[in-house]
Amino acid sequence: LILTHHGLSLNGEAHSSATAAENFYTLLLKDFETQMEYLKRENIRPLLLDEFLGERCGSTQKTVVITFDDGHESDFALALPVLQRLGFAAVFFVCVEWIGRPGYMDWEQLEKLSQAGMSIQSHGLLHHDLTQLTEDEIYHELLSARLCLERNLGRPVRYLAAPGGFVNDRVYRAAFRAGHVAVCNSRPGLARPVRVLNRVVLQRCVSQRQFQRVVQRDRKRLFILSVMNAGVTTLKGMIGVQRYEALKQRFF
Ligand SMILES: [Zn+2]
Repeated sequence: LILTHHGLSLNGEAHSSATAAENFYTLLLKDFETQMEYLKRENIRPLLLDEFLGERCGSTQKTVVITFDDGHESDFALALPVLQRLGFAAVFFVCVEWIGRPGYMDWEQLEKLSQAGMSIQSHGLLHHDLTQLTEDEIYHELLSARLCLERNLGRPVRYLAAPGGFVNDRVYRAAFRAGHVAVCNSRPGLARPVRVLNRVVLQRCVSQRQFQRVVQRDRKRLFILSVMNAGVTTLKGMIGVQRYEALKQRFF
């Protein structure tokens, strides 16, 4: 099971100029801590993606992969201390263009994160909806993001989390051509150790009870999440991403 977080917050706001949509994905630090402590208590072992893809079938221990999207500064300031206290490692997908912007991690913080045993991977260059680009445009964008991260951090970048979770066959083909071993999407459900990886995105409104049901692989909960995801995908297709985001701002 691959989990996706975004930023964390002490007071409910992602950062001082955060939009309602950003806050929608920003968990309170105390809720994140409760989630992580639950994993520890239940002996659910967090893996990095290399370990997950190399995992042998037949292991009886439940595992998760903890991922963070976008490269928020709170990932370094708030999430890292919790992960370190519990002895957990996580994967941080960073958008290259946002590195060093207010509210986002800079190169020095990414280096420290990496030295702490965390994995830094690609969330693309500009946070485009890649499905709107040609395959060559996607290829060049993803290749330059991957190489930029590798050059600056001196470690291999093998995974992509598609910005906004937007994927199609062109995105997958271009990402693999650009040297990624696997691509994470935002389709809820259990991930199989193959090149396309489903992830369950956790929003602030997810209760502790719902979180527990997800990590315990409650089939009903995972089914509800996939139905909701299919509904959102259909709605985005019908009214367009911008109008969907405007609607979300209005209601959340
Ligand atoms: Zn993102």
